[in-house]
Amino acid sequence: MSIALIWFRCDLRLADNPVLHHAMQAHECVIPVYLHAPHEEASWKPGAASRWWLHHSLAALDAELRQRGLRLILRQGDSLTVLRELLRETGATAVYWNRRYEPAVIARDRTIKAALRTEGFVAESAQAALLIEPWTLLKADETPYQVFTPFWKACLRKLPPAAPLPVPKLTGPEQWPDSLPLDALQLLPRIPWDAGLAMAWRPGEAGAQAQLESFCATALTSYAQGRDWPGREGVSRLSPHLHFGEISPRQIWAAVTDATGGDPLSSKGAETYLREIGWREFAHYVLYHWPHTPEQPLQERFAAYPWRKEYAELLHAWQQGRTGYPIVDAGMRQLWQTGWMHNRVRMLVASFLVKNCRIPWQEGARWFWDTLVDADLASNTLGWQWTAGCGVDAAPYFRVFNPFVQGEKFDPDGAYIRRWIPELATLPTTVIHQPWNCASKLDYPAPILDFAASRAEALAGWERIKGG
Ligand SMILES: Cc1cc2nc3c(=O)[nH]c(=O)nc-3n(C[C@H](O)[C@H](O)[C@H](O)COP(=O)(O)OP(=O)(O)OC[C@H]3O[C@@H](n4cnc5c(N)ncnc54)[C@H](O)[C@@H]3O)c2cc1C
Repeated sequence: MSIALIWFRCDLRLADNPVLHHAMQAHECVIPVYLHAPHEEASWKPGAASRWWLHHSLAALDAELRQRGLRLILRQGDSLTVLRELLRETGATAVYWNRRYEPAVIARDRTIKAALRTEGFVAESAQAALLIEPWTLLKADETPYQVFTPFWKACLRKLPPAAPLPVPKLTGPEQWPDSLPLDALQLLPRIPWDAGLAMAWRPGEAGAQAQLESFCATALTSYAQGRDWPGREGVSRLSPHLHFGEISPRQIWAAVTDATGGDPLSSKGAETYLREIGWREFAHYVLYHWPHTPEQPLQERFAAYPWRKEYAELLHAWQQGRTGYPIVDAGMRQLWQTGWMHNRVRMLVASFLVKNCRIPWQEGARWFWDTLVDADLASNTLGWQWTAGCGVDAAPYFRVFNPFVQGEKFDPDGAYIRRWIPELATLPTTVIHQPWNCASKLDYPAPILDFAASRAEALAGWERIKGG
C-alpha cells in the first residue's frame, strides 16, 4: 500500500488544502502528522497566546479527521529526525506540506526537502497560505515592490484566484503509528489566565467558516467605514484563523465574491476588505524579500535613532494598560484579555510606544508576539515598522497620532473605552477621553508623559538621523 505523510503546519484545515489532493492523487492513503518543534523557529517561537490557539486548533483538526476515520499524529523533536522515524515506522514513501514564509522555517524546509529527496523519498510542498507566491512578482526592473499600491495592482492582474478545493476523499492506513497525547505538547498555560481567550474565540476550521459567514452577512458591505470603529463589530476578526491556516485567502475571496453577486471589486466594502487581505500578502512578500526585518529596520538610518535609554517603567505601564491615555489603555487591556486588538488601536498603541515613549519598536513587537492570538511574523513586523516609519511604504515618521484626538474621532461615544476600562465605565462622554478633567476621584492614572513635549522629543530625534 502506497502511503504519504501529510505534514500539517500553519494550514490546519481540510478544505482548500492542496497537499491533501496531491497526496491522495499519488498514493492510496495518508497519515496526517503535526510535529511540534518550536526550537526550529529561531527567536520567534510561538508566544503564549499563540500556543493556546494552537492547542485548540490541533484538537479541532483531530476531531475533523476522526469524523472521516483518520486522526492527527502528534510528535515532537527535530522535524527531520521525526519525519525519518515516521517514514521508517509506517513504510510511507512521501511527505507533503504547504509552504510557510518565515526565514528560519524556509531554511529548515529546504534542508528537509533536500535530505529526504537524497534518501529516495518524495518530498513536495505547495502554495496554500497566500494568493501570490512572493518570488513570482517583481517590478519591471526585476527588484521587489516597496510600495503597497503598485504591488496590489500587480497582484490584481494575476487575480482572482482559482476556486477553492473541496475536502477530498481521505483514506487512512490500516495501522496507525503512535501519537503523543495533545497535553504532552504543553501548549496551554500552567497558570490559567486564558478564560478571556476561551470566551472570545472558537479556534478551528468550523469556527473560521462560521466567522467568515457572519462577517459577510453583517459587516462586509459597510466595512469601508465600519473598520474604523473599534467599539463596533465592523471587522472580520479572521486574523488568527488566517495565521493558523484554518481558512485560506482563496476561500475568503470566493465567499466575498459570492456575497457581492460575483463582482467583489466593484463593491466599496468588499474591495476595501480584499485590499486588507492584500496587505497580508504584502507583509509576507516583504518578509520574504527582506528576511532581516523582524529584527532590523528596513530603512537603515533608523538603526541610529536615539531611543530612550531607561524605559522599563514606561514599558510596563504600556503593557499593563495604565498609561493614563484611555484609548491606548483600552487597546492594551483588550489585547491582554482576548489576545486580539482592533487594527486602528494597534496603530495608536504602537505609535504611542515608539513615538511618545521613544521605546524601540522591537520591544512592542515582542510584547505583541507573546500576547496576540494572531501573532504573525510577517504582519507583526510590517505593522511595527510601518508605525515606526522605518519600513516599506511606512507612515511618515513625523506624523505622531494624538491619542486623545484619535479617541474622540474613532470612539466618539467612548463605547470601546468603557468596555475595556471598567474604572471609566460610568464617566460621561464629555470627559471619557480626558478623565483627569473629571471632578470625582478615579482609580485611573494621570498621563505618564506629556503629549506635546514627548512629540517634540521624538521629532528632534528624527532630525538627528534624517540625513543618514
Ligand atoms: C503594530 C501592528 C502589529 C500587527 N500585528 C499583526 C499580527 O501579528 N498578525 C496579524 O495578523 N496582523 C497584525 N497586524 C495587522 C492588523 O492589525 C490585523 O491583521 C487586524 O487587526 C486583524 O483583525 P481582523 O481579522 O478583524 O482584520 P480585518 O480588518 O477584518 O482584515 C481582514 C484580514 O486582512 C489582513 N490584514 C488586515 N490589516 C492588515 C495589515 N495592516 N497588515 C497585514 N494584514 C492585514 C488580516 O489577515 C485580517 O485578518 C498588526 C498591525 C499593527 C499596526
